[in-house]
Amino acid sequence: MRTPIIAGNWKMFKTMAEARAFAQEAKAGNNTSGVQKVICAPFTALAALKEELAGTDIAIGAQNMHFEEQGAYTGEISASMLKEIGVDYVILGHSERRQYFNETDETVNKKVVAALAAGLVPIVCVGESLEQREAGETADVVRAQTEGAFAGVDAAQVADTVIAYEPIWAIGTGKSSTAEDANETIAIIRSVIGERFGQATAEKVRIQYGGSVKPENIASYMAQPDIDGALVGGASLVADSYLQLVAGA
Ligand code: 13P
Repeated sequence: MRTPIIAGNWKMFKTMAEARAFAQEAKAGNNTSGVQKVICAPFTALAALKEELAGTDIAIGAQNMHFEEQGAYTGEISASMLKEIGVDYVILGHSERRQYFNETDETVNKKVVAALAAGLVPIVCVGESLEQREAGETADVVRAQTEGAFAGVDAAQVADTVIAYEPIWAIGTGKSSTAEDANETIAIIRSVIGERFGQATAEKVRIQYGGSVKPENIASYMAQPDIDGALVGGASLVADSYLQLVAGA
């Protein structure tokens, strides 16, 4: 059985003080077990969040990193810098990074390799645009992104990663995918992992759905056989709402 994982992606929201306030509330109300909990915060809030969440089962994640270990890369952060402050997860290849910051399957792949080498768990995002969906290209797009992200990675390492299927048209739009459609695409992603890395890896890798997930619809996704949790933007910004998502997983 795969342990469900509910990850919040705060995007570019919350100062350090706001992150601390969230953590105190989340800590006070955190009473669900059997679900992996992760908050992916801006770089500047990670250390404070880690300190506030010490002794809880809520892990922290970053939203990006550079693939090089160190060097003349102004403005960038490496995997070992994240690891040093107690970060366990890192979102890689989010569609907003692909769209606004020229992230490609190739850079995502380099980042996946570097994250795994540093002992971080990558949350690799894949998903199609509305045009691609309407053109019937969803399966091809998620296949290419999945194969690209994990090129050259060992099956055993792939098994311990997390994939997030986030159809771009469902992100921040309030237009969530139906649970059945999300499950269908996630099953395709799982079968691509199976073809490339074997059945045992496909059965172990966790695949989340992301895109307008809220406390009111989380149960419908979790009821699907291939959906192992959610990557949540807006609804993860309020502690009570995040805890409701966890309780619904
Ligand atoms: P929303 O939950 O705000 O739609 O964002 C989804 C997302 O992009 C999570 O990474």
